Amino acid sequence: MQTKIEGIVLSKIPYDERHIIAHLLLRSGRKVSIVFYGGRGGGVKQKSSIIELGFMLSVELRISKSTGEIYHAKEWNLVWHHDLVRLDHSAFYLICFFLEVTNRVAPSENLHEVHEENTEMVGLFTTLSNSLVHLEKCLQAKSFYTHSHSVIFLTKLLLHLGVFPEREHCTLCGEELQKFNDMYLIAEEGGFACPPCMNQRTAYSVQSGRELWELLGHIAHTKYQDLGSIKLEYKSLSRMLFHYFCFQFHFEEKDFKTAAMVF
Ligand SMILES: [Zn+2]
Repeated sequence: MQTKIEGIVLSKIPYDERHIIAHLLLRSGRKVSIVFYGGRGGGVKQKSSIIELGFMLSVELRISKSTGEIYHAKEWNLVWHHDLVRLDHSAFYLICFFLEVTNRVAPSENLHEVHEENTEMVGLFTTLSNSLVHLEKCLQAKSFYTHSHSVIFLTKLLLHLGVFPEREHCTLCGEELQKFNDMYLIAEEGGFACPPCMNQRTAYSVQSGRELWELLGHIAHTKYQDLGSIKLEYKSLSRMLFHYFCFQFHFEEKDFKTAAMVF
């Protein structure tokens, strides 16, 4: 069994008076459930808790012979934490949204049987950790735009999960999209469509996707640290992308508790 792990706290629930059960996203992009005895802090030494949403911890687990899905922490330390996010309620809602979305798509890790070559979910960890660090940096620079962060997060997530929208060619007729002035994102078709195709499909009434089409291309080819210049002040693009994301994974938008606080 793998006993030394590092991961980001995706969710936590109090358990008994002083304990916490938390989900951690490991570097492998998979998650585990861990019981932290005394994790709520307090006690004789009045220790404060470091098990907070979005914090990165290193944890040493007790060896357990049972192959159950819940692990028990022996010791834990802080690896990375955010500071400013907690002081800004919209930034805090945003990380809660990132964590909820990640929690929904992350598969569970079996620490009794870790396969190092299983790297297909690593991008999930990369996306979440970069999003948290980028958010904290933008708050430090006093340049925080909620919807920029949600669009960047969702774009990187779709890329890593292999469901990035088709944006080179019209998803309906195959024409190159570059030559049109406008294009439309159709979740059901997994990509963008050209205006002539949209005119034939009167059943659809969708808003223009031109701006999103350009933004997706830019974000897909740019590193996180160079994305600070995106300043989106309105939510329509991130909403469109969230709708697209939910459709690809058969999720209901309303099932995300935190989405209403972001959009
Ligand atoms: Zn077309």
